Amino acid sequence: MLCRAASFSLALLLYGQPVMAKMPPVPSPKPAQPAPAKARDAKLARMPAKTLFKAARKGAALTPASHGYYTRGCLAGGQRLAPDGPAWQAMRLSRNRNWGHPLTVAMIKRLAIDAKKNDGWAGLLVGDISMPRGGPMRPSHASHQIGLDADIWLTPMPSRTLTRTERERLSATFMLTSDQLAVNPTVWTDAHAKLIKRAASFREVERVLVHPAIKKELCLKAGKDRQWLGKVRPVRGHNYHFHIRFRCPPGSAGCRPQKPPTGDDGCGTELDKWYKWLHARLKPRPKPKVTVKPRKRKARRLLTLTDLPPACRLVLKAPDQIIAPQPRRAAQSRPAAN
Ligand SMILES: [Zn+2]
Repeated sequence: MLCRAASFSLALLLYGQPVMAKMPPVPSPKPAQPAPAKARDAKLARMPAKTLFKAARKGAALTPASHGYYTRGCLAGGQRLAPDGPAWQAMRLSRNRNWGHPLTVAMIKRLAIDAKKNDGWAGLLVGDISMPRGGPMRPSHASHQIGLDADIWLTPMPSRTLTRTERERLSATFMLTSDQLAVNPTVWTDAHAKLIKRAASFREVERVLVHPAIKKELCLKAGKDRQWLGKVRPVRGHNYHFHIRFRCPPGSAGCRPQKPPTGDDGCGTELDKWYKWLHARLKPRPKPKVTVKPRKRKARRLLTLTDLPPACRLVLKAPDQIIAPQPRRAAQSRPAAN
């Protein structure tokens, strides 16, 4: 979490003047003077972009648009997924990553409602989507930058509303056997397969990422209807959740699309390669005779604003969206007395 002082300096840098709405009174009698615009922009350009985007707590008041690529970009006019809905609950609310392009938010709701109605899936637990204005997050979470990626837990939603604390602490279910070569039949169900198939069947969905063992299970049980399988791509990790990636939406001229999948079901050579890799990991490695010093990993360079499309500067500088307060629940209507 950024401390208040850091948020204050960021606001000063981004907007040229302090945003006072939620700031404590400044102790100094002389208010800080804004840095000259050029110097300020140069300083912003050197800062890690993730710090700048994390400081924005609300979406940018701009027309919705995804700018850049899934791993290098930002989001204008982001919409927040409500923490609770008829068929979903958003998790890890403290991260403030339940924001996406309005299309993403609408599609998550649709998936949640359709899967509950038709697939025997109790409802979605929704993990990370994007930050309010998108942008880079921690290096291990490379995508999710333009509001078009969403993580959905493979744990079905409980029938009660989770508390805020539970949403922070609850762990998702590990879906594989301990050797990670197959799904664990004690936790994997047909409803999991139906949910993933439904997500991949939406025209708006570009890819669905799952662990290779989950992909294998889907390949084995798919039967004759296999077209949707081509969108389901095996990637390591993704054994507690699956990842949905949406296509560039209309009105996002600056959104760079991903190369479409090859068109086959992806159950052949590609999956075989993954299994070679999975088996290789299981083989015991011979102990080296001489103690070798572990190689120092090169720290990955953090993305800065200069790595992102120019539109992202405007996204950062735009004022906050004004979100209308939620209407109070209407008092339960009484049946009219006859
Ligand atoms: Zn993800």
